[in-house]
Amino acid sequence: SSEAKLGALSTVALGECHIGPAGFTVIAGPCSVESGEQLLEIAAAVRDAGCHALRGGAFKPRSSPYAFQGLGREGLELLAEARAMTGLPVVTEILDVRDIEDVADSADMLQVGARNMQNFTLLRELGRLRRPVLLKRGLSATVEETLLAAEYVLEGGNEQLVLCERGIRTFENSYRFTLDVGAVAVLKERTHLPVIVDPSHAAGTTSLVIPLALAAAAAGADGVIVESHHDPATAMCDGKQALPVTRLPELMSRLSLATGAA
Ligand code: PEP
Ligand code: MN
Repeated sequence: SSEAKLGALSTVALGECHIGPAGFTVIAGPCSVESGEQLLEIAAAVRDAGCHALRGGAFKPRSSPYAFQGLGREGLELLAEARAMTGLPVVTEILDVRDIEDVADSADMLQVGARNMQNFTLLRELGRLRRPVLLKRGLSATVEETLLAAEYVLEGGNEQLVLCERGIRTFENSYRFTLDVGAVAVLKERTHLPVIVDPSHAAGTTSLVIPLALAAAAAGADGVIVESHHDPATAMCDGKQALPVTRLPELMSRLSLATGAA
């Protein structure tokens, strides 16, 4: 179960790194995989900045069916190439149970997006897998509902589970979602699972990404997952919130000061 046991905080391996209380893990990369050139350029910058893992969506859950839906299987192949080139472990979203095997072949960690947090069929299938899973909190899910969603994965015997706070819907519209920093502390108190934060989707705007990442570190998060792009103006998805890759060293040094770890 996800309930906290004193002295038994879990650590989840992601490639060479271990997400958990002993360190601070930084996962960075584009919202979506757009092309081989785009991904390899960003992946090299992510590695050079000292980040620990690469993110990138091949299957994109878009609000509009007319928006770019991701490169799909081709995107998975590009992620596997980027992993081979940089040595970085890869995190990517799984949208459909039918793609689990393919995604698990190309990625080191399978992300369940906010919109799928209560896709119980998908969660149960991921519970049968022996691969790390990143479960993002739903846009309007309570902490309790998030923990129950986590139970679906754990109950199947997959204990390699990391939770992610990514902002919730509130009346406030100065940013895209409201980062629920309190939830980080509550989740850390109530579960033994590692908890990371996605400051990018909460921010919605580049200038807010580093401040929210620092807030996450201060609240006790075990890491962050950040959207970054070599040319945000041309990004096919979420360019407005992308941290230019040239600012990744700044993200790393400020997190390192804040945590004494990154
Ligand atoms: C993402 O990480 O690209 C994403 C779609 O995030 P979320 O599911 O939190 O909206
Ligand atoms: Mn995105």
